[in-house]
Amino acid sequence: MSEAAKQRPFQAEVSQVLRLVVNSLYSNKEIFLRELVSNASDALDKLRFESLSHPELLKEGTEFRIRISADPDKKTLTISDNGMGMTEEELEKNLGTIAHSGTREFLDKLQAAKDQASGMQLIGQFGVGFYSAFLVANKVEVVSRAAGSEQAFLWTSEAKESYTIEPAEREEHGTDVILHVADEHAEFLQGYRLRDLVTRYSDYIGHAIEMPTRETEDPKKEPEFERVNRANALWQRNPKEIDAEVYDEFYKHLGHDWEAPVAHRHFKVEGTQMFAGLLFLPKRPPFDMFDRSSKHGVRLYVKRVFIMDNCEDLIPPYLRFLKGVIDSEDLPLNVSREMLQDNRVVRTIKKQVVNNALTMIEELCSEKPEEFKTFWESFGAVLKEGLHYAQDDAEKQRIAKLVRFESTAGSEMTSLEQYVGRMKEGQKAIYYATGTSRALLESSPHLESLRKRDFEVLLLTDPVDPFAVAGLNEFDGKNLVSAMESNLELDETEDEETKQAREEQGKAVQPLVDRFKSVLDDKVGEVRASSRLTDSPVCLVIPEGGVAPHIEEMLRAHNPNMPRTKRILEVNPNHPVIERLKKDNDADGGSERVSEWISLLYDQALIAEGSPVEDPAGFARRLGHLMQQAATT
Ligand code: ADP
Repeated sequence: MSEAAKQRPFQAEVSQVLRLVVNSLYSNKEIFLRELVSNASDALDKLRFESLSHPELLKEGTEFRIRISADPDKKTLTISDNGMGMTEEELEKNLGTIAHSGTREFLDKLQAAKDQASGMQLIGQFGVGFYSAFLVANKVEVVSRAAGSEQAFLWTSEAKESYTIEPAEREEHGTDVILHVADEHAEFLQGYRLRDLVTRYSDYIGHAIEMPTRETEDPKKEPEFERVNRANALWQRNPKEIDAEVYDEFYKHLGHDWEAPVAHRHFKVEGTQMFAGLLFLPKRPPFDMFDRSSKHGVRLYVKRVFIMDNCEDLIPPYLRFLKGVIDSEDLPLNVSREMLQDNRVVRTIKKQVVNNALTMIEELCSEKPEEFKTFWESFGAVLKEGLHYAQDDAEKQRIAKLVRFESTAGSEMTSLEQYVGRMKEGQKAIYYATGTSRALLESSPHLESLRKRDFEVLLLTDPVDPFAVAGLNEFDGKNLVSAMESNLELDETEDEETKQAREEQGKAVQPLVDRFKSVLDDKVGEVRASSRLTDSPVCLVIPEGGVAPHIEEMLRAHNPNMPRTKRILEVNPNHPVIERLKKDNDADGGSERVSEWISLLYDQALIAEGSPVEDPAGFARRLGHLMQQAATT
């Protein structure tokens, strides 16, 4: 180490990730090569793209390549590329810190992981990339020179708490990752072992991977390099000639995942817009799924040239869990993010991409129901956003067929098609209730009248559900109706007699309703008699266009000034408590007891829907008072 090389501490998370990764992956060491080759390939892609607008970055005749060579005497293995390289600052940022949302959560979970398999799974979801070098090396050196700069730097670490960076020399731009392989992993210094790994893991890489020929493997000879992979873009090949494992390995490279995908779809579109696409459905969500800026998504290529990672203009946000490649023949090579927005070509491509993505999910649903279930658990919450944001109605209806909800029909999730198949005679709509938990919804007073008719109710407990169903409106010609809304009409017609009886009853209970209004004052928007309830005395319903209370709470967390929706208190005139209260009110309109009961009933309605009571001390006092009365009479 020279004078100039100062010890620099790793960000605390890096040391921890390093330690845990090395401990969890001891039986999967060989993946380090795939990770480092992937990084090299990405660096070549980046430079090829940058050179489109900055041709001065590339010397005439530069051929992009990745080279892998071992020196058994020095016990070093070097993975070298002539790609973008890194500046001193980039070395520090990329190899000394982890810029990954969810790192803390990942570490906590990994520490708690019971066995190696679950640890692996977590690491797969997180992606450790470069740090996997320490699976086989006890010291790693990175010599890198950024394209456009004359100065190279050497980064060194022995995987302890720190690393160093010092000036170095390198003939051209690019990066050498030099692994000082630990004695017990000497197998990774042998040519045949390395070749085997490259063909198994990295055959699909679009750049040439070169190794010294067998004759020049000996480090004492001048190496002659030969290409060991096929090096043509996988998505341009004929799907019939590609084995499933090759797709899996390609996905792992692309998605920075260690687990194979659950499905893939490889397609070519001819016609006015020509492009090839390869889409994958990951098995598990990454740690940053809800971080929309996450960088590994669908990549855009133009005529085989990498243009950008995570091209959001090609894939709607509700499909952001997909990974893949789109390679257009028609977009210009110098296309920029700005140009992609609102571009006609892009819109046409996007439509086809969505079409293929939905087909892939539909096939999973019909052909592998168990795997579809797992898919739904992982990504359902995201796909549901599509009910709101689909580009047109046909797309929306396709998504509607894929969504699954809990329902009163049983413990299994149900599709809307299955729900419609179970609809009762005379049932006009698809009913749903929204709230924070299944248990709460099942015992909700709002469901009483529906249950009486034996109508099934979808129980929506995911915060995105109210928005999702609001976006759908109807399915198979049936409206989606909230059981919590004020104007819930269940029967088509009411015979004259029932109608008259109801109106009479309404009139009779009106003085009590007025009393409710004056006691509750501005806590509610309205009070009215209702035929919705059978077992409960009261419930709170949402006025038309209003928002469910738990959603309102959530929105208020972001915007404290949001006005509260004043809800409607519905009173069940047939309930014994209300009958008694009516009598008392008729006899003595001003009695304190009636006011107390009304306040208690209001709090009861809040508790029944899972909302907090506004004045817990007052509630406890009134309840105590009531029990005391009951005990002494
Ligand atoms: P990831 O590839 O998932 O971002 P890594 O830990 O593998 O995570 O790498 C961190 C970063 O270091 C990369 O994003 C890249 O910017 C940089 N990097 C790694 N290897 C190379 C390389 N061979 N050439 C240029 N940059 C590299």
